[in-house]
Amino acid sequence: MPQTLSKKHIVVFGRPGSGKSSLADRLSERFGFRLVRTGELLRQAVRRRDAIGLRVEASLKAGALVPDALIFALLEQSLGGRDNVNLLFDGFPRTMGQVALLEKFESTLAFAIDAYLDIEVSRAEAVRRMSGRRVCPRCGATYHVVNQPPRVAETCDHDGARLESRPDDDPAVIDERQRVYEEHAGPILAYYRDRMPGKFYVINGEQPVDAVFSDTCRALGPAGLDG
Ligand code: ADP
Repeated sequence: MPQTLSKKHIVVFGRPGSGKSSLADRLSERFGFRLVRTGELLRQAVRRRDAIGLRVEASLKAGALVPDALIFALLEQSLGGRDNVNLLFDGFPRTMGQVALLEKFESTLAFAIDAYLDIEVSRAEAVRRMSGRRVCPRCGATYHVVNQPPRVAETCDHDGARLESRPDDDPAVIDERQRVYEEHAGPILAYYRDRMPGKFYVINGEQPVDAVFSDTCRALGPAGLDG
């Protein structure tokens, strides 16, 4: 029987390499959150080579952000017409424009974010972790060859797909992604810290993954059982 948390709509922030996506995977597995992962939606569009994919491919490779209007279109497809309970946003909002988009989705789709998590990791540690990262092309689960290896080398634990490195995990692009994160994240985090102090949680992401997970669960409130 899946466990539930008192918090049902969550946003996870953290620089590239902070471990936020692995944390999101684990929260989703344990508590049944539906992951809304803009980076993964964009990579899927690139793989499909559809209109959005063709427009964003170069930005992704360069580590640059894609325009807010495209993020809006992707999220509208992903959220619209569904039962949006237990959502976990990973990689969104990433600009102040997207902060406004999230507020718009909250009012039009009738849900409310009840926790904003900031997974804090230094730039040096994040860069170190990013070399060795692997991702499942089918379900988006992330691994690390040393820190979080799959059960069978280079193979996804969930669906058996062969794992891939992301083209934007190239060393030069890693630096650019860190720079872009630092440029945009400051104002966004300050915005939520100031306006929603009771919903804003800083988690020390430099601890072992189990400690990051248990600190997060504590922040998200008492777990109960469904049903
Ligand atoms: P990371 O956080 O490790 O960079 P993501 O998978 O979240 O990984 O994002 C990968 C890339 O996708 C980003 O570098 C950016 O180019 C693009 N991207 C993802 N989410 C957004 C967003 N909300 N707005 C603009 N660009 C985005």
